[in-house]
Amino acid sequence: MLKIHQLQKSYPIGDSSLHVLKGIDLNVEEGEMVAIMGSSGSGKSTLLNIIGMLDEADSGEYILDGLPIKDLTEKKAAVYRNKFLGFIFQSFNLINYKNAIENVALPLYYQGLKRKERQELAMFHLEKVGLANWAKHLPKELSGGQKQRVAIARALAANPKLLLADEPTGALDTKTSYEIMAFIQQLNDEGKTILMVTHEEDIANMCKRIVRLRDGVIMEDKKVNQVRAEQYV
Ligand code: ADP
Ligand code: MG
Repeated sequence: MLKIHQLQKSYPIGDSSLHVLKGIDLNVEEGEMVAIMGSSGSGKSTLLNIIGMLDEADSGEYILDGLPIKDLTEKKAAVYRNKFLGFIFQSFNLINYKNAIENVALPLYYQGLKRKERQELAMFHLEKVGLANWAKHLPKELSGGQKQRVAIARALAANPKLLLADEPTGALDTKTSYEIMAFIQQLNDEGKTILMVTHEEDIANMCKRIVRLRDGVIMEDKKVNQVRAEQYV
C-alpha cells in the first residue's frame, strides 16, 4: 500500500534550517491500522502531510499503491489525493457555512459526480456514521463527536484506499474519543487501511501497530494487541 525509504524533510528558518525527518523507512500493508506517536514537534504531522501529498519530502522515496510520489504537478497531486486518500483532522476542518450533507458531498464534486449522485452517496455515508437525521444541520449545531463523524463520512465519501488521521480524538473528551475510535476500528475491520497520528497511549493501543518517532527517526515500530474501543462506550 505504502512504501517509504529514507525520507528527509527540513524547514528553512531564517538562514538555517530545521531538520525534522532524518531518514524515515516505513512500509504499510493494506488493512493495517497504524498509530504514529512521538512528542510534540517530533515530526508526526510533517510525515502524515507528506504521506497525504499535502507536503513534499526533500529527498527519499515514497511509493503509494505502486505509484512513485515525486515531482507531481499540483493538479496530478490533487487527482491522486482525491482518489487514494481520505483525511481526518483534530479540528474537523468542516466548512462552517455548509451543512453536514453538503460537507460530505464536497469531495464528490471534485470527482465529477452529478448532483443527485453526490447527494445519495453523501446520505449513504452520513447514515453509516449514524447522522442521517442531522444532514441539514450546520457544524455549529453539532457536538464535537458529531462533527468528527461528519468529517469521517466526508473522508470516506470518495472511497479512499487509505485513511489518514491527524490526532482525530485530540479535541474530544475520553468517552467521545472512544466512540470515534470504535467507529474507526469498524472501518479497519471492513478492510480500510488507517494511519493515525496520536500522542495518547490509550488511543494508540486501539491500533494494531505503533510507530514511534524521536529526533527525526523511527525509534520503535511494533505490533500491539489491539484494545477494542466499543467496550468503553
Ligand atoms: P508534531 O506533529 O509531531 O507535533 P510537526 O510535524 O507539526 O510535529 O512539526 C515538527 C517541527 O517542524 C516542529 O518543530 C515545527 O515547529 C516545525 N514545522 C512544522 N511545519 C513547519 C513549517 N511549515 N515551517 C517551519 N517549521 C515547521
Ligand atoms: Mg502534529
